[in-house]
Amino acid sequence: MTTTTIPQVSVAPADLPAVVDQELNAARFIDVHTHLFMPSLGNLGLWGIDELITYHYLEAELFRSSTITPREYFALSKREKAKAIWKALFVENTPVSEAARGVVAVLHALGLSTSDLGEAREFFASQSLDRHIDRVFELGGISEAVMTNDPLDPDEAPAWENGAGRDARFHPVLRLDRILNKWPDHWRALESKGYQADERVSSVTGVRRFLADWVKRMQPVYMAVSLPDTFEFPEDSIRGRLIEHAILPACREFNLPLSLMIGVRYQVNPAIRLAGDGVGKADLRAVERLCSGFPSNRYLVSVLSRENQHELCVYARKFSNLMPFGCWWFLNNPSIVEEITRERIEMLGTSFIPQHSDARVLEQVIYKWRNTRRTLVPILAKAYALLAADGRAVTREEIRRDIARLFRGNFEKWIAA
Ligand SMILES: [Zn+2]
Repeated sequence: MTTTTIPQVSVAPADLPAVVDQELNAARFIDVHTHLFMPSLGNLGLWGIDELITYHYLEAELFRSSTITPREYFALSKREKAKAIWKALFVENTPVSEAARGVVAVLHALGLSTSDLGEAREFFASQSLDRHIDRVFELGGISEAVMTNDPLDPDEAPAWENGAGRDARFHPVLRLDRILNKWPDHWRALESKGYQADERVSSVTGVRRFLADWVKRMQPVYMAVSLPDTFEFPEDSIRGRLIEHAILPACREFNLPLSLMIGVRYQVNPAIRLAGDGVGKADLRAVERLCSGFPSNRYLVSVLSRENQHELCVYARKFSNLMPFGCWWFLNNPSIVEEITRERIEMLGTSFIPQHSDARVLEQVIYKWRNTRRTLVPILAKAYALLAADGRAVTREEIRRDIARLFRGNFEKWIAA
């Protein structure tokens, strides 16, 4: 009797961390939410050392470790801002915070000195963006990044309207923040483009046509909106009516998931601008009502408050049209990622998306994904060790399959369902 079946050998418990580490590093992930842009959209995409250093996470930290005021800081040029942050957070203090350490990790990964701002500036100035993107994605271990594309962004819309070329490395997302959160400031933009619109949304016909045209133009992988901690649904408000009567039907018509990122307290401190948003615990009964009231819609949900994480897992157990994803913004720190990811594995197995980078500056995918892999090694290894101790050892192939599901398959299935 002949057989070509290769016997699958269980991984010994002592080898689990090494095998998980190898498989995580060999896998190419899909980054399911970023603020990166494909080059054909023009100069919207941020990259390079001055952008890395002036990331709003580090701006927030600057004002804790320097006497410079926000007013003085925001009057500086980009290079001067970077110099001020470099001096305060990297020279006069040790860059141990997550965001500061990230800049160090990027420089190191690119083979640069971690203490020479001038050398870094020379290096980035000499890069050609297209090849640099390939190298950064390789170092970050990702094959594709999902963008954030708001059709009412006056800096971005013209590039789409002029037929921006597609790029296999980047997937578009139809972002709805201006429509849903700032309708009074933006309905005239719809009207000026020939769509029926008015301040009180007396009809959704124009919005539906606007969405249909942009879905056709962009071919997004999902629609998305960030929402405050006070978000409620259903709600007798412009946003509530638009979600129920325009967004959800459009998602069903075009078979697109809706991504909800809930829990921002917008502009707690407006003086520090992008760094000025905070976090609040949300009432996730809004998610329950969306999942149960509109069962043929699919939702990708990330919640910003640590206190909301457990109930999000519980809701995902109740509703198979709910996919939790990522550890977002203030949660993307190893101690909190570890807690949330363990909780998700214990409650959901491998039926969730553990992380996205939320990168705003291209090279951030290097450190954010390295950190994710490093944090995930002991978490996954421990899950497999517990399973082995209870009588079911796993093979390398099973570990590979699980990682592919977590970091690619769950997302691919969700957008293609
Ligand atoms: Zn984001």
